[in-house]
Amino acid sequence: MTEQPPEFHHEGALVAVLTAQPLDGPLDYRAPEGGCLHGAFVEVPLGPRKVLGVVWGAGRGGFDLKKARSIIRVLDVAPMRAEMQEFLRRAAEYTLTPLPAMLRLATRAPGLSDPPSMQKIYRLGEDAPARMTDARARVLEVLHAHGGLGFTLRELSDMAGVTSSVVKGLVKQGAVREEDTPRDRSFARLDPDLPAKSLTDDQAQAADRLRDGVRSQGYGTTLLRGVTGSGKTEVYLEAVAETLRQGGQALVLLPEIALTAEFLTRVEARFGARPAEWHSGVTMTERRRTWKMVGQGAAQMVVGARSALFLPFQNLRLIVVDEEHDSSYKQEDGVLYNARDMAVLRASLCDARVVLASATPSLESWANAEAGKYERLDLEARYGAAVMPELAAIDMRAETLPSNRWVSPTLQAAVSARVAAGEQALLFLNRRGYAPTTICRACGHQIGCEHCDARMVEHRFQKRLICHQCGESAPVPSTCPSCGAEDRLAAVGPGVERLAEEAAALFPQARIAVLSSDLFGSARALKEQIVEIAQGAADIIIGTQLVAKGHNFPLLTLVGVIDADLGLQGSDLRAAERTFQLMRQVAGRAGRAERAGRAVLQTYQPEHPVIRAILAGDEEGFWRAEAGARREAGVPPYGRMAGIILSSPDMQAVFDLGSELARRDGPIRAVGAQVFGPAPAPIARIRGRHRVRLLVKAPKGVALQPALSAWVAQLRLPPQARLSVDIDPQSFY
Ligand code: ADP
Ligand code: ZN
Repeated sequence: MTEQPPEFHHEGALVAVLTAQPLDGPLDYRAPEGGCLHGAFVEVPLGPRKVLGVVWGAGRGGFDLKKARSIIRVLDVAPMRAEMQEFLRRAAEYTLTPLPAMLRLATRAPGLSDPPSMQKIYRLGEDAPARMTDARARVLEVLHAHGGLGFTLRELSDMAGVTSSVVKGLVKQGAVREEDTPRDRSFARLDPDLPAKSLTDDQAQAADRLRDGVRSQGYGTTLLRGVTGSGKTEVYLEAVAETLRQGGQALVLLPEIALTAEFLTRVEARFGARPAEWHSGVTMTERRRTWKMVGQGAAQMVVGARSALFLPFQNLRLIVVDEEHDSSYKQEDGVLYNARDMAVLRASLCDARVVLASATPSLESWANAEAGKYERLDLEARYGAAVMPELAAIDMRAETLPSNRWVSPTLQAAVSARVAAGEQALLFLNRRGYAPTTICRACGHQIGCEHCDARMVEHRFQKRLICHQCGESAPVPSTCPSCGAEDRLAAVGPGVERLAEEAAALFPQARIAVLSSDLFGSARALKEQIVEIAQGAADIIIGTQLVAKGHNFPLLTLVGVIDADLGLQGSDLRAAERTFQLMRQVAGRAGRAERAGRAVLQTYQPEHPVIRAILAGDEEGFWRAEAGARREAGVPPYGRMAGIILSSPDMQAVFDLGSELARRDGPIRAVGAQVFGPAPAPIARIRGRHRVRLLVKAPKGVALQPALSAWVAQLRLPPQARLSVDIDPQSFY
C-alpha cells in the first residue's frame, strides 16, 4: 500500500494530541518550534506533569487560544502511521474501549521518551596482534565467524570465554575496533534464501499459495489447518521468507506459552539469525530495542504474544497467528480484545496477509472459511513416521470406581504398563480449581440449569448448585432429576492437584509432575519445567490445557483424558468446541516422535456425538454438527454476544447495579437483543473486587456497539464501581 506522506504542522499551529491519560479524547496544543508531523510522538504538559502523546490531527479550538500550551518536544521515534491510528480507532470502537486506553497498548515500551543513548561495540580491526595467545585467538575467531557483526564487551568476552581485559588488550593492538553505536542496535539481517527443508507435495502447494498471497500485496486471510506435526510451521515460514524478500515486515503471534527457545532456534535455522521478540519474558532493554527497531523498519520479523500487534510496524505485510483457536489470544484483563480478530482488522487496514494456523481451528474461523471469507488450506498427512495415535473410549459406567477416585482401573493398568516400559503417560484434566459437575452415577445425567441450558456447578461452602450464566441457584438434590435414583448423585471432576494425590497413591514408584499455570510463578519457570519433563524428568504428567499447546514430549506415548464429558453440556457456549480441540491436541501429544501413541478418553457418554466425532477423527462432521447447533441457538458465530462486567468491593452494591442495568434494557431490546443476568462473573472476585456479569445475546448483523453504549450510559456508577464491556466473550464459567 502506498501511504501519503504525513501532513506537517507548522510551529504554532493548533494540533490535537492524544495521550494515554484517562481523558475523553485528544487535547489541543501548539506545534513546537520546528513544527511536527502528523502522528509524531511528543511530550506535552498536562497539569503539572509531562506526558507522552501522539499528534492525532488538527486542533479543534473552541476555547481561549491564548491559553493553549505548546508541545514540549518531538520524540526521536518514527511518527505513528495513519493506518495505525485508524487501527487504534477501529479497535477502540469495536471493543468499546476508550481511545486513550488503546493508545496505551501502542506506547508500552520503556524509555520511549529517553534521548538516544550510546554504547560501545567491538568489531574486527585491521591489524594482527603483535603476540597471539589462545585467548586472543578465540576472540578473533568469534569475530571472524560472525562476519561484520559487532558485540558488546560482555557478549564478546562471554562468547570467546575470555576476560574483558583480553578484548581490551586487542583494542590497544588495533586487532579489535571499539566503536560508539546507538544502544538500541538493529537486528541481524534475516536471509530468506538460505536453504529451506524440502517440502512434501502437500506442503509445497500450501507454501505456494501463501507466497502468492504475499506477492499480491493485498489483504487476505488464510486458514492453514493441519494436524500437529504436519508441517504448518515449515509452510508459514515460507510465507515469512517471501515477505522478507519483498522487503516487508512479518509478525508471528504465538500463545505466550508456546514462545519457546525451540521455536526461535527453528527460525534461526531457517533464516540465519534470530528474530525480534516481544512478550512478557523479554527484558526492558530488549523491549525498547524491539519497539524502536520495528518502528524504523529495521526489525524484519517479530515473534511475539498478542500485544505485539500494537508495535509500530512500518511495512507490515504478514501476520501469522499460530494456534489461532487458543483461548489465550483473548485478553481477559484491562482492554478486552481478541488478538486473532484484531490481527485480521490490522491486516485489512494495511493490505497485509493473515495466516491462521491450527490443528483444530475455532468454529469462527472454520465458518469464515466455509463462507468464503477466508481461504482454506489443509495439510493432511503428518510429516515423517509419526502417526495419529490410536483413540479409544473408556466407558465409565462399566468401570468400578470408588467415590472420589477418577482414574479407572483400565486407565490405571495402561499407565502402569507405559511407566514400566520407561515411557511417559499424561493424565489430562482441564480444571484447576475445585469446580465439580453434579452427575447421576446411575444414568449419566448431569444437572443443568432450568433457565438457560447451562450446567449447575456445586459450591461447597454454600451447599448449593449455582448457574454461572444466569445466577439461578438451588439446594443440592438427593435424587436424580432425570431417573429418580436415590443417592447416586455425586460431584465428579477433581482439580489437577487432587488428581495428583490420587496418582501418587496409585503409582507410588512413579515420578509425577503437575503442569498447571497457577502452580508456576512465571512463564519462564513453566517453560523450564516443560523442557525438563520433555527430557524425561517425570513418568506421569498431570496437566490442564497448558499441555495442549504445542509442546513436544518425545517420550510420551499415552494420554488419558480423565473427564472427556467436562464441557459437553457445560455453561460455556464453546464447551464442545474446546473439548474437541483439547482432545485432538492432547491426543496429538502422544507419540509425536517415532513411538506410536495411544489416547484414551474416560466418559460416561460414549455415544455423545462429540465423543464419537473425536474417536472417529471426523473433524468436518464435528464442525458441521456444532455449527448447526450454534446457528439454531443464534449464538456466535451465527449471532453476537457481549458481556458487561460490573465490579466493586461491595458485593450487594454490585448485584444491585447489575439488576438495575438489567431492568433498563430498552436500548438492548430496541435492536432485538436480550439481556441475561446478572450472575457471578467467570472470575467472581479479583483483587478484593466482586464481579458480576450480564450477557447480551443479539442477532447477527445488528449494530450492537452503539446499543451497548447507549444502554450502559444510563447507569450512574458510584465511585468505587467499575464497568467494562467484553465483546465476544470467551469464558463463560
Ligand atoms: P506443525 O507446525 O504442523 O505442528 P511442524 O512444522 O512443527 O508442524 O513440523 C513438525 C516436525 O516435522 C518439525 O520438527 C519439522 O521440522 C518437521 N518437518 C515438517 N516438514 C518437514 C519437511 N518437509 N522436511 C523435514 N522436516 C519436516
Ligand atoms: Zn441458568
